[in-house]
This record gives sequence, C-alpha cells and structure tokens, in this order.
Amino acid sequence: MRVYNFSAGPSTMPIEVLKQIQAEFLDYNGSGMNPMEMSHRGKVYDDIHNEAINLVKDLLFVPDDYYILLLQGGATQQFEAVPMNLLGKNNKADYVNTGHWSTNAIKTAMPHGDILEVASSKDKNFTYIPDATNFIRPDARYLHITTNNTIRGTRFTKLPKTNVPIVADMSSNILSEVFPVSDYAVIYAGAQKNIACAGVTLVIVKKELVDNDYTLPYTPLMYKWKTQADKNSLYNTCPTFNIYVMMRMLQHLKKQGGISEIYKADKEKADKLYNFIDNSKLYSNNVNPADRSLMNIVFTTGNEETDAQFVKEATAANIISIKGHKSVGGLRASLYNAMTMEGVDYLLDFMKKFELKK
Ligand SMILES: *Cc1c(COP(=O)(O)O)cnc(C)c1O
Repeated sequence: MRVYNFSAGPSTMPIEVLKQIQAEFLDYNGSGMNPMEMSHRGKVYDDIHNEAINLVKDLLFVPDDYYILLLQGGATQQFEAVPMNLLGKNNKADYVNTGHWSTNAIKTAMPHGDILEVASSKDKNFTYIPDATNFIRPDARYLHITTNNTIRGTRFTKLPKTNVPIVADMSSNILSEVFPVSDYAVIYAGAQKNIACAGVTLVIVKKELVDNDYTLPYTPLMYKWKTQADKNSLYNTCPTFNIYVMMRMLQHLKKQGGISEIYKADKEKADKLYNFIDNSKLYSNNVNPADRSLMNIVFTTGNEETDAQFVKEATAANIISIKGHKSVGGLRASLYNAMTMEGVDYLLDFMKKFELKK
C-alpha cells in the first residue's frame, strides 16, 4: 500500500512515472536492458541523456548561451564548486542567508575567498526573505541566494536589484514556477525534490562563466564545470538510471502542460493548506505571508507534545514524514510537484479531525 508521503527529500514521485519505470524495468524501449545496465557511451543511453537535457531546456526555456550539466555530488558539492569555479580572478562573493542551506553554502564558500553575508533573516528565525539590494558589493563576482528554504518554508518571490550575477540554489523549488533563466548566472539543484531520484545534480550555467581561467588554482578536475561542459556531462560514467528517471519525470511534467500549469496546481495545493492553517485555532504558520514557500509548508500546534501526538497519529493514518526539521521542530508538509491534490485533501481531512479532538 502506498503512503501519503510529505517528505522534504527524497520525496514522493508521481505514481504514473513509477509505474512506467516498473513496466520497462527489464526491457527499456526494446533494448532488452534497464538503463542502469547499459553503456553510457551507447546509442540507447545517449538518446536518454540528450532527451533529459533537451527537456530541461524546453521546460525552463533555457537560452542557448547556457550549459545544462548533469552532475553528481548533490547541491552540497555545488556549495564548493560555485566559489571554486568563479572566484579565480575576483575573489569577492556575496551571500544572502535565509536558513540552514544558505548557512551551509556560506560556511563552505568561506575558505575560498572574500565571502560576505550581505543580508540575513536570522534576526527573526529565518521567517522572511531579507532584501539584499542595498548591501551587495558592486564588485562582487556573484550573489548567492537560496530561492526556496526547504526547512523554514520561505521563498524568494522577487530578486534583489543588482548587476552582480546571481547564483541560485533551487534544489527545492526548481520546476515549480516559471522564471527567466537569464536573470541568473548559475542555477543548481539536487534532483531528489522535484527533478528525479537522488543521485543527479542539475547545473545550469552561463557559458561565458565556464572557463578554467576563472577557477581557483587548486580546483580539482571533477569540480571544474568545464570538465563536464566540454563533454556534455559524459566525461566519466554518469548516473544513467537517475538520468533516465529524470527524463521520465520531465516528460510527465511536459504532458501536464509544462511549468505554468504545474505552478497553478502547486499554488492551489499550497493556498488550500495555508488557508486552512490561517483559519484554524490549533495550527499556525509563522512565515511572513508574502514570502511563503509553495513547496514546504511549516506549521505547528504551538505545543511540542501536541505536535508529537500529531506526528504519531498521522503516521498511523498513513501520513508520513510530516515532522518538522530537527533544527526547527513543529510540523512540515512538503508539497512538491508530485504531491497530488488528493494527498493534500487527505492531510487536511486528518488535520481537521485532529483539531476537533483537541
Ligand atoms: C536538499 C537541499 C540541499 C542539499 O542537497 P544535497 O543534494 O543533499 O546536497 C541544498 N539546498 C537546498 C535548498 C535543499 O533543499
């Protein structure tokens, strides 16, 4: 039996895609093999690889002057790769701190250059998105932001005004909203939230920035974007199965009408849950309403024991991974693209019943 899975990542996948993968598990497209069994240099796999890349281009309207890279190492590796690839000539970079993942990105970048936290929402427990516009150093090589804060449940709805190139960790909200790629110099995202299963990392980077002259002198070969960019992300064996899953996920997304349709559905799901929370006497969400995430909805009953009771009863009702991140406590429902409205309604029904008993 399937559960209602509100995990922040790895997270639930569309049942249609899981079934398709199951159906072709032993024989992908007449090849007699699973994509995990085939050569990454063969024709069958090559088509999968290029289809996945083309779908990213298609769905996100990626301009031609950007590379679309499929890497390993997760978003966390990019915390290191970003400064290593960009700080070779001008070692200044500015960061906005909006929670756990930005804090990690800043800590990781620190040893690589003159890293400045130009804005932070730590003063209010990361419950809002600070405006960095007036604090960005005009000569910074880049400004790093985390567009969706998975743990705190906030998201950027507008970018700081700056000519400094923006680098964005979009791990938890890529493919959920339409945005112009050209507003960014670099976009990166681990796959396990909205793209595929864990094991592949998407990096979209402006071609002019991919130059070994811009890398720090000690940058390892496998951290240099150029290494993979020159080889269409096939410098070494790529995660073939994960990229195949990514291709099937993106095809599914496209079939649903692309990102603008997905956004409508995501917005409807999130609004429904926020509306319920805002009108409830038991539950509350403390995020600045204008900065609320559509993907990760944090809430609490305001009482630790009641929150624990909620998690316990939810689990018994087949609702899993509803507990807030350990650094924050409370509760969290992650509503990535694959979470259905039916799943949200099921959760709402449970929340209503739980509230009535209190
Ligand atoms: C999950 C997450 C990460 C970490 O991703 P890994 O693939 O585990 O390295 C980084 N940033 C954000 C915003 C995330 O949600």
